Amino acid sequence: MKGTMQAVVLQEIMKCVVENRPRPEPPAGGLLLKVHACGLCGSDLRTIRSGHRNVMLPWILGHEICGEVEETGAGYTGTWRIGDRLAVGPNVYDPADPFCVEGKHELSASVREIAQQWPGGLAEYIAIPGESVASGNILPAPEGMKSIYAAIVEPGSSVIHAHEKAHTTIGDTVLVMGAGPIGCLHVAVARACGASRVIVSDVVDERLRLVQVFEPDATINSAVEDLPSRVRDLTDGSGPTVVITANPAAISQVQAVEVAAKGGRVVLFGGLPHSDSKPGIDMNIVHYMNLSLIGISRFAPRHFRLSLQMLQSGQIPGEKLVTDVLPLSQFNEGLQKALEGRALKVVFEPGR
Ligand SMILES: [Zn+2]
Repeated sequence: MKGTMQAVVLQEIMKCVVENRPRPEPPAGGLLLKVHACGLCGSDLRTIRSGHRNVMLPWILGHEICGEVEETGAGYTGTWRIGDRLAVGPNVYDPADPFCVEGKHELSASVREIAQQWPGGLAEYIAIPGESVASGNILPAPEGMKSIYAAIVEPGSSVIHAHEKAHTTIGDTVLVMGAGPIGCLHVAVARACGASRVIVSDVVDERLRLVQVFEPDATINSAVEDLPSRVRDLTDGSGPTVVITANPAAISQVQAVEVAAKGGRVVLFGGLPHSDSKPGIDMNIVHYMNLSLIGISRFAPRHFRLSLQMLQSGQIPGEKLVTDVLPLSQFNEGLQKALEGRALKVVFEPGR
C-alpha cells in the first residue's frame, strides 16, 4: 500500500464523509487512475437517499470519471500508457455474452459496474479492473477537452441510445418531460438529431429556469399548468411526435401517452419506483393512435463513443451542462445543491 487518499465515503443513508482511505493498488491487468474529475449522477443521488441493491455500505460512489493513468497492473496488455488521460464508462461487460457479441450490450445480463462491484471515482485514485479495460467503455480524452467534460460522457450515452431507438429525426417535435441534467441532454441530442421543436416540462420552476440555457422552444410547469392542453396548443393540436419521460413520476408515463401525436414514439427513459410502477396507462390510446412504447435502459460502447464525440463537437454543450465544479472537500455542498435541484451537473475535482 502506498499511503492514503482522500475519498467520499457513503457511510449510511444520507451521510457522506470526506475521509482518508488506503490508496488502491493497480489490479492485475488493470490500471490505477489519478482521478481528475468525477461527476455526480442522478443515480448517485438515489443511492445516497435510499441505498442500492448492489451497493454495500460504507462505499465510495462515483461512476462518471476522467482520470490519468498513474500505474498499470501486473500483466496489463492494454494500449494506454502512464500519463494518458481517459474517459471511463462504468459498465463492464463479458465480451463472450451473446448479446455483447451482437452489439446489444444493454441487454446483457452479465453487466457489472464500476462504483457498484468495484469502488468508484469520488476519490483521488481509482483502481480500474482488467475486465473494464477490455470492455470498450474506456476512451482517451481528446486533447483540449477539459477533464470535467470528459468525465460526463456516461449520462449522454443513455440519452443517445434513447434517440437511436426512437428514431428522432428531422421535423420531429419532441416533448421532454423532466428538466434535470438528463432532460437537458435530451434537448441537446434531440436538436442534434434534427428535431424542429423541443418542448420541456417539469414541476419545479427552478429547473425550468436552469434548462433555458439549452434553448428549448417552450417550457411548461405541469404542476400549475394543464400539460395536455398546453402541449396541444403548442403543437396545433397534433401533439409531439416523440415524447421522452425523463423523470421517475408514474403520472408522466400516463400523460406521455395522452399527449403523443398519432403514430408517435413514447420513450420510457426514467425508471419508476417499485412501489409505483403500474401507472394505469390507457392502452386503447396506444392501440388506436398507433403509438410505439419504447423501453430504454443502459447503453452499448458505441453510444459511449458517440457521446464523447458529441461533447467534443459541442453538440452536447458540456459547459452548459456542468454548472458547478468543486473540490472533493466540498462534496456535501455540491450534493445539497444537486439534491435541491439548484444545479445541473455537479463535477468534483479530487486533485484540487
Ligand atoms: Zn451517471
